[in-house]
Amino acid sequence: MTTRRNFIKTTATLGLIPLVPVSMLSSAAEQITGDDPAAKALRYVEDATTAVRADKMGVAGADQLCSNCQFYTVSGSNPALGPCMLFQNKLVVGAGWCFGWVPKR
Ligand code: SF4
Repeated sequence: MTTRRNFIKTTATLGLIPLVPVSMLSSAAEQITGDDPAAKALRYVEDATTAVRADKMGVAGADQLCSNCQFYTVSGSNPALGPCMLFQNKLVVGAGWCFGWVPKR
């Protein structure tokens, strides 16, 4: 009799079932583009100086950049780019900005 455990073990061994969820396979190194619906929705720009940035949470608009945003992580390979948690860890430009900006704590 084939149990569910044996079936999963056997098919995983044969490579028939991916052991890593598909969602984890998405490339974290992909740079977000202006065509991305999420980028459009949050008005992401690669050059923050081109955006109208209102003062937020005690920080002047002119001082708001991806590089000092709570959702930004400095990338080791390219300091000008970093993954943004708000955009599913796609890379954003450190000098960029979007409407979701929150000060880094
Ligand atoms: S959430 Fe922050 S790091 Fe991400 S794009 Fe917007 S401003 Fe940049």
